Amino acid sequence: MTSTTIPPNVPASSEQLVPALDLSVVVPIYNEYDSLPVLIEAISQVLDRQALTYEILCVDDGSTDGSGDRLRQLAQHHAQLRGILLRRNYGQTAAMAAGFDHAQGLVIITMDGDLQNDPADIPRLLARLNEGYDLVSGWRKDRQDNTLTRLIPSKIANWLIGRVTGVNLHDYGCSLKAYRAEVIHDMNLYGELHRFLPALAFIEGARITEIAVNHYPRRFGTSKYGLGRTLRVVMDLLTVYFMKKFLTKPMHIFGTLGLVSMAVGIGIGIYLTLVKFLADQDIGDRPLLVLAVVLLLAGIQLFSFGLLAELMMRTYHESQQRPIYRVREVVESGLP
Ligand code: UDP
Ligand code: MG
Repeated sequence: MTSTTIPPNVPASSEQLVPALDLSVVVPIYNEYDSLPVLIEAISQVLDRQALTYEILCVDDGSTDGSGDRLRQLAQHHAQLRGILLRRNYGQTAAMAAGFDHAQGLVIITMDGDLQNDPADIPRLLARLNEGYDLVSGWRKDRQDNTLTRLIPSKIANWLIGRVTGVNLHDYGCSLKAYRAEVIHDMNLYGELHRFLPALAFIEGARITEIAVNHYPRRFGTSKYGLGRTLRVVMDLLTVYFMKKFLTKPMHIFGTLGLVSMAVGIGIGIYLTLVKFLADQDIGDRPLLVLAVVLLLAGIQLFSFGLLAELMMRTYHESQQRPIYRVREVVESGLP
């Protein structure tokens, strides 16, 4: 969105979307009819005790159980509640993105709408954020979910994500997180990327940490996910890995691979030519010949793909006026 970021708790510069509130709590809601009133009550109770201006942004992700109407009713009685009702079910990532787009807070908290997260953790997240971080992630140290379908895949996923992205958190899947709004507004979300928000934020240069948070079993309704999620997460992980490594320099990887492949192919070709003309041997049925041709063609393809990726990268950045860097702070003497 914009290139400048703001130091902690300093009002945004005029070119930025000026945050009107201290805090926005973004909650994606998909068929959480029974949880909703309890949730709103719990969040308000915690935040009313803080000296903060805040809003609760509930994004109804096309619920079919009347959660949307329930939000309408609740909004009549809660001044801080804003409901955003999506036209259909887009998935948790899109619901969160809708929340981010509407959020007016300097700080954005995300949490689940099923009461598995504890609003009482919010002040602790905020305190930690104010120690100079851009993102504080929750860690469900004592997670209350099914072992076989949830805990084990999640352990593996967390380990993989940590290795690949270079951000070391225990628990990427925890929805309860706090962000400085400018970090959120610098990111674009697709697929199931919400769990990679820390990794994406890290790419944008954010300072990241985590704290242990409470986690409870689901009280109402059912989980929207099963084992099938794991594969989608792995695919998104590959995307994030690529974005992190090569987003601004695709030619470095594809060009290098292509050149190496071409060089080896040409080397083998020269060797075979020498064998043919100097040693006067037949080379037509040699596997090496096939290898040389494949390497050469693959090399050309990789190289041109790198060039194309380079062009697309430029389009990607320039079409959104998206800088290839992020400024944390500008220091000036202030002297005339
Ligand atoms: N959710 C959503 N859209 C979906 C699926 C889920 O907005 O398509 C919301 C859901 O209402 C909940 C949060 O995302 O607030 C997390 O979902 P769930 O509790 O089912 O996931 P789990 O905690 O089991 O990982
Ligand atoms: Mg849940």
